[in-house]
This record gives sequence, structure tokens and C-alpha cells, in this order.
Amino acid sequence: MSAERLRVIECGARDGRPVIRRHDERQVGPLFFGPGDANLLCGACTFLLIRGANGAHSIRDAVVECPNCGSCNQASRPAPDPGSPAPPAPRPASP
Ligand SMILES: [Zn+2]
Repeated sequence: MSAERLRVIECGARDGRPVIRRHDERQVGPLFFGPGDANLLCGACTFLLIRGANGAHSIRDAVVECPNCGSCNQASRPAPDPGSPAPPAPRPASP
């Protein structure tokens, strides 16, 4: 069983991805249990978010909200290829 800390992002930067969060506040422990061999931890407080994942890529299309500290976590991505830098994302001007 391996453990991997997820990457904390701003919750507003989820780009429309679904947020996995706990709805029953009485529940304790991981949000999900799976048959895999990786534990995914909150990148901020190391709370165990998902036990038995098939690696962090299993949640690459979602954002996980930590029920302990409220941070939004995503699977860490490999560093971008320096040969093809992505253009900066346009941001709307804040009033
Ligand atoms: Zn946390």
C-alpha cells in the first residue's frame, strides 16, 4: 500500500470538474474505499481522502474537497513539456 499526497489547488480553479465532497458530516474516515493499493492524502493536512485508489490518476477528472481542512485537491500532474509551453489561461478582470 503506497500513499500519495494530492496537489492542493484553489477551489475556484477546478475548471468545471466535479467536486468530490462529503455530504454526511457525521461520517469519519476516507471519502472512498477502493480495491487498489494507493492511499490518496490531502496535500495540505494529509487527511486520508481515498483508501485503495488505483493511483492518483483515478481521480484526474475530479477535484476532492478535504472534509478535514476544506482544501481542494487534485491529482498531481507531470511537469509540462518545456518544449511546448501552454499559453496562459485568460482570466476575467475582477471588479
Ligand atoms: Zn485537508
